[in-house]
Amino acid sequence: MSLLVYVENTDGKFKKSAFEVVSYAKAIAALTNNTVTALSIGHVAAEELTKLQKYGAEKIISADSNQLSNFINRAYAHIIADVAKQQGAQVIILSNSFSGKGLAPRVATKLDAALADGAISLPEIQGDNWTLTKSAFSAKAFAKLSLQAPIKVISLNPNAFEVQENEVSAQLETYESQIPAADLGVLIKEVVRATDKVSLPEAEIVVSAGRGLKGPENWGMIEELADVLGAATACSKPVSDADWRPHSEHVGQTGIVVSPNLYIAIGISGAIQHLAGVSSSKTIVVINKDPEAPFFKVADYGIVGDAFEIVPQLITALKAY
Ligand code: FAD
Repeated sequence: MSLLVYVENTDGKFKKSAFEVVSYAKAIAALTNNTVTALSIGHVAAEELTKLQKYGAEKIISADSNQLSNFINRAYAHIIADVAKQQGAQVIILSNSFSGKGLAPRVATKLDAALADGAISLPEIQGDNWTLTKSAFSAKAFAKLSLQAPIKVISLNPNAFEVQENEVSAQLETYESQIPAADLGVLIKEVVRATDKVSLPEAEIVVSAGRGLKGPENWGMIEELADVLGAATACSKPVSDADWRPHSEHVGQTGIVVSPNLYIAIGISGAIQHLAGVSSSKTIVVINKDPEAPFFKVADYGIVGDAFEIVPQLITALKAY
């Protein structure tokens, strides 16, 4: 049995999640004595494709055509399911990213497979019965999913599994089959990137600020801190509701869920709805002038003080570092 992994790219460069899912598949392959096949869709140069062998992909299949240069849910799902059938793959793994959230259920339906979406653990394997953990109820609980169907689709939460090097020598193949016209119904002609900044859902470091910042005119220091750290910026809901920041930065129960290595919360109280979107971050640093702010209860490091004094000092110290 081979494990099939769908690896995402942006403008021909693999995302970090691509290396995460290959590493994750390799760990499962070691448990089950299997091989890992990676599937890339869209134009990715051979040199970039071969990077996947560093993380354990023994076979790399590239589906490259002009029609596929932008993400098309139905066409991509068709290719993943088709390659899974061709390769006899019984486990299909992808990232629980923006596109992965749309692809995983479609692929599972096409293959009559069991689906674990948003997995955060390796499976516990007992024959055909695989048990996986995911977070539930806005990250306040964990759910155990038991996948019993012979074919399994697993979408892995970004940042839930460390990238691990496991060099092998890979064989490169191309996907040649026709894609049904119905699956190419909507073609994205052009994607115009609104910003060159680090993408929030995939960021390893997030600098986030809340109503404690008083107004949009004070976000300069938040952006500067993010720039120094190579981080994405985020905000609490009231901040985006008040149009201080764009809605694309709103994290929490009703916004984006992030799980970076480092989440820095500045002037955010730590309401339960905010924590729902950030509590799976590896390390949380809180800066708040109120020592009783609920955010301190979940913080790994806390600074009690005025953000307008602390953040500029932090920027100066980091620049000098
Ligand atoms: P506040 O609660 O006003 O907190 C501001 C904090 O800044 C305070 O702790 C204060 O001590 C601190 N502060 C003030 N001045 C300074 C200073 N100079 N230096 C340092 N600290 C300072 N919220 C979300 O964020 N995301 C969601 O997805 C979300 N979904 C929701 C869904 C529902 C159904 C509901 C009812 C609410 C939701 N909320 C959400 C809102 C949530 O309940 C809180 O109201 C919100 O998170 C508070 O935002 P805040 O922490 O920025 O503001």
